[in-house]
Amino acid sequence: MSDMTGKKYIVIVQCHIVKERCPGYLCEKALHERSGGFACYPQDRAYRVLTMTCGGCCGRAVHRKLTLLLRTLKKKEGLEKGDVVVQLSSCMTKDNFHAPPCPHLDYVRTLIERIGLDVMDDTVVSEKSQGRREEGVYQP
Ligand code: SF4
Ligand code: SF4
Repeated sequence: MSDMTGKKYIVIVQCHIVKERCPGYLCEKALHERSGGFACYPQDRAYRVLTMTCGGCCGRAVHRKLTLLLRTLKKKEGLEKGDVVVQLSSCMTKDNFHAPPCPHLDYVRTLIERIGLDVMDDTVVSEKSQGRREEGVYQP
């Protein structure tokens, strides 16, 4: 499991299409509870958090959104790339009742990695959906 004690700032990137309807509550709850994709974050540590969407297919806006964010974080607070981690929402990374995973997932990951940021998968992981993945109803 990754060690997130060195991180200060979490950027949750969510599917733009899904976010036309979803307020993102379950992502926030998973972070609050340190469950799902946030299980590796220590409970006793507070993190700054910002959510943004990918900007729509093919996700290329992620690059300019994150680049501007990094520039601003450095200018305003002296935060460096290593302080920041990007967490890709489960509606991007996992097959679920919304849809299969984002068809541009590898591309979006590559964009983020090229900026030099650590990128992690998943936010909320429900027991029901996980069960369906194990049963083969959804892709693993
Ligand atoms: S993972 Fe769930 S709660 Fe988070 S943005 Fe996607 S659909 Fe909404
Ligand atoms: S690129 Fe992927 S995450 Fe972004 S809107 Fe399209 S399907 Fe959703």
